[in-house]
Amino acid sequence: MSNGPRLVLLGRQGSGKGTQASMLAEHFAINHLSTGKIFRDSADAGVSAGLEAKAFMDRGELVDDAIVIAVVEERFANPHEIERGFVLDGFPRTAHQATELERILEHAPIDLVIDLDVPEEKAVKRLLARGRDDDTEEAIRRRLELYEQETAPLIDFYRARGVLASADGVGDPDDIQKQLIELVEARVDRLRASV
Ligand code: AMP
Repeated sequence: MSNGPRLVLLGRQGSGKGTQASMLAEHFAINHLSTGKIFRDSADAGVSAGLEAKAFMDRGELVDDAIVIAVVEERFANPHEIERGFVLDGFPRTAHQATELERILEHAPIDLVIDLDVPEEKAVKRLLARGRDDDTEEAIRRRLELYEQETAPLIDFYRARGVLASADGVGDPDDIQKQLIELVEARVDRLRASV
C-alpha cells in the first residue's frame, strides 16, 4: 500500500483547523496528530507532565518547545506513524519546532502545509462560542498574540520551502474541506509525477 500524505495545518486558534484536520485524516485514512489534544488527554489522565502543560494552556501560553518536541519525536519514533501519513494540527507553532520537525522527518519530509486563513475577529467569536475549559477571553487574546509573534512567521518559512498552500477558512466547513482535499490531491499528483 502506498504511503499517505504528510500534512501540516497552520492557522490561528479558531480557524477551524482541528475540525478540518480530523476530516482530512478520515478522508485520506491518515493519523490526526494534535499536540493540544495529547496534552489535554494526559492532563485528564492525571499524568504530571500533562498537568504541568495544562497550567500553560489555561493561561494561553505556549508549552515549552522541548516538551512539545519530545512528544512529537516520541510519536514519530514509530516508523508506521510516518508511513501511514498524518496531519499535524497545532504543531509546529514556533520556528524552533519547525526546524526540529525537519530534523525528525529527515527522510520523509512534509508534503504540504496548508495555511487556513480566518480573520482575527472571526476567530475570537468562534473560540468564545466553543467554550472549552481553556477558552477564557484573556487566554484567547494571549494565544492570538502568540500566534502572530511565533507561528505566523512559519507561513514564510514554508513558502520558502515551496510546500505552502493557502485556503480561506471562512465559510461552510464542508466546502472548505473540499478545497483542502483538492489542494492535497493536486500536491500529491505533482509529487508523484516528479518521481
Ligand atoms: P490547541 O488544541 O492546538 O488549541 O492547543 C491548546 C494549547 O496547547 C495551546 O494553547 C498551547 O498552550 C498548547 N500547545 C498545543 N500545541 C502546542 C505547541 N506545538 N507548542 C506549544 N504549545 C502547544
